Formats: sequence, structure tokens, C-alpha cells
Amino acid sequence: MVDVKKIKDEMLLAAKRAYTRGIQTGNGGNFSARIPGKDLMLVKSSGGSFIDADHNSLLVTDFDGKLVEGEGKPTREALLHGFIYKIAPQVNGIMHCHSPWSIGWASTRKNLENVTHHLKLKFDCPIVTLDINAGVVPEEEFYKVEEIFKKYPKLPAFLLVDHGVVAVGKDIIDAEHNAELIEESAQVAFLKALASSFR
Ligand SMILES: [Zn+2]
Repeated sequence: MVDVKKIKDEMLLAAKRAYTRGIQTGNGGNFSARIPGKDLMLVKSSGGSFIDADHNSLLVTDFDGKLVEGEGKPTREALLHGFIYKIAPQVNGIMHCHSPWSIGWASTRKNLENVTHHLKLKFDCPIVTLDINAGVVPEEEFYKVEEIFKKYPKLPAFLLVDHGVVAVGKDIIDAEHNAELIEESAQVAFLKALASSFR
């Protein structure tokens, strides 16, 4: 039997971690988790802060973002989350944050790669930057997300220009850890660029 309460507890833990770590401030960003065995997911309702989220802020929707259970409005980006669950069966959690170093790096339009040995060891693929000119990834751009999942089926995250990071994982805790590592790596990428000017 699916333990929805346990999944919700994990989501709240991940959200608090992301907020405390500073990878998501204010009331931006969103996160979700797949409800195993069903074409349903739990998503953060629109507007609230990661740190204030509770069980009531987590809504059940289908993969098209349609509300199935709970009160409130699903996040505007639920459609993207649902799309990822549709195309990537190995993904069970998604953490999407407007993390400053990640956004800074994405503005270079370059992929994030070869930053540290740890990053290379942990993820056997570049962190691709997608240049999508919108605050919410529109449906007509979803093919770009599908393309990178086809190319790198085990990808842990991707970056969105002027927007943030979308990290995925085998569960929401894993996805949040990936978001942290991407943010740390983006920061290191800038430090390395600065350090190179001292050589
Ligand atoms: Zn966003």
C-alpha cells in the first residue's frame, strides 16, 4: 500500500532543507512527488513558502495538473512536473528552486560540467541549460525537456535561463540533495572563473 503520509513527510523535510540551505527563499519554487502506482502526484499549492508548508499545502493532482484532492490551487508549474513523471518513470521526486548561483550560471547559456571531481563522479552527464524565455515552461517547449531525458536518461537536473534549477531524484529527498549539489557546483564554477584571474 502506498504510504501517502510518509511521502508528504519527506516532501516537507526536503522543503525545509531547501529553504534553510537558502536555495529557495520567499514563496517561489515548487516541489512534487509521484504517488507510486497511480498517474497522480503530490504538489505544493501555489503561493506558500517552502518553510511554512504543511500537509494541507500538498495537493493531489493528475499529471495534467488537475486537482484531485486537497484545497488550494496547484502550482502553475505542475504541468511540467507531470510531464517529467510521464516521460521518466525512474523519477519520483522533483525539486524546482530559483537558486541564485544556478540562475547566475544558466545566464551563461552553457551547460554546467567539469566543475569538481565529485560532480563528475556523482553524475555521469552534463547539467544541461535550457534557454526557455518564460517564467513558467510552456507546453510547446516540453519537447526540449524530453530531448535531454532521451539523451541523458539518468540526468539529475537541468537549468533554466533566468529561472532556476529543476532537480529530479528517486524520491523527493534525493531530488533536493541534487538541487543542493547543483547550486554548490554553480557557485564553485564562478569561484573557479574568479580564481583563474589570479593565475
Ligand atoms: Zn520557477
